[in-house]
Amino acid sequence: MPNLAVFIEQRDGVLKKVAWQMISEARRIADANGGEVWGVFLGQDASTATAEAGKYGADKVFAASGDALSTYNSEAWSTALAGFCKINNPDILMIGSTAMGKDLGPKVAAKLECACVSDAVGLKFDGGFEIRRPIFAGKCFTDVVPKTAISVVGIRPNAFVLEEKGGAATAAETFDPGLDGIDLKAVVEKFETSGGGKVELTDAEIIVSGGRGIKGPENYQLIEKLAETLGAAAGASRAVVDAGWVDYSHQVGQTGKTVGPNLYIACGISGAIQHLAGMSSSKCIVAINKDANAPIFKVADYGIVADLFDVLPALTDEVGKIRS
Ligand SMILES: Cc1cc2nc3c(=O)[nH]c(=O)nc-3n(C[C@H](O)[C@H](O)[C@H](O)COP(=O)(O)OP(=O)(O)OC[C@H]3O[C@@H](n4cnc5c(N)ncnc54)[C@H](O)[C@@H]3O)c2cc1C
Repeated sequence: MPNLAVFIEQRDGVLKKVAWQMISEARRIADANGGEVWGVFLGQDASTATAEAGKYGADKVFAASGDALSTYNSEAWSTALAGFCKINNPDILMIGSTAMGKDLGPKVAAKLECACVSDAVGLKFDGGFEIRRPIFAGKCFTDVVPKTAISVVGIRPNAFVLEEKGGAATAAETFDPGLDGIDLKAVVEKFETSGGGKVELTDAEIIVSGGRGIKGPENYQLIEKLAETLGAAAGASRAVVDAGWVDYSHQVGQTGKTVGPNLYIACGISGAIQHLAGMSSSKCIVAINKDANAPIFKVADYGIVADLFDVLPALTDEVGKIRS
């Protein structure tokens, strides 16, 4: 009967969808094996987080607040999460594989001296946990069986399906984050975000990405227009980023962002292994490429062998008509 704890990530009060995906999966495991699903929230005002967590199947939400937790600080937040685990002994602590989660998870695991599995895409329980994660830039999967009583597991956004199950969590239970008298070695003064107002790649349900096939920076607007019409995020291959056509924050792949949207539209991208490493777990992949032998077609669910300069304006037009 495993108790499954899920870290509910927020920045400036904005809650990350990956938390509800992890809670949905935790609920499915708890329903099949017994045990409870717990949300863990750090920061001010846990009320929305608790209501949402309850909607997706959390039995309880534990929350801690205080000055040291008001903005993200890895030392304070990892201390609080490790403290929570020491008191409540969950069998697993799931943390979204976001920029924050990738920073936080290993620090929590180090404080607990327990197993840490990063970038997981699957979770099974059969007396113990078996955690699936991609290796060799997504070419293979490995199933990891942690040997410690608790394990900290980073979960890729969109690896699990959302399901509203209705758990018992209504009001958050507060816990002591154990930060009294802590002398933080570094404090975060402020965050500056880039790409204001646009859909963030790792949260996006739809991504339209452009590769070297767009020919020049002036044509990236074709990608942005389709993305905007679909309510999607705009991504890019490294070739486009290295050429300075768009900012690195758009890069998808091994050395960029790992994404797993419901729909990924790759335009003028050849499908190099390093690009696939960042997007091959997308639920549906559409490739537009004028070379019928481009490797991207091996992973694509739908392929359009055509010139993207013909396809993109027509597609944007049609989507616009349907949406309006
Ligand atoms: C250590 C390492 C890390 C890397 N990390 C990343 C990473 O994170 N992300 C990443 O993307 N790459 C990464 N790369 C680079 C990767 O190997 C490829 O070089 C890169 O992905 C190629 O980008 P591309 O597909 O846009 O360009 P290309 O490989 O040049 O492909 C362009 C494609 O556009 C098509 N095309 C051309 N004109 C048109 C047209 N008019 N209409 C339709 N199709 C057209 C062509 O047929 C071709 O298939 C990495 C490489 C290394 C060595």
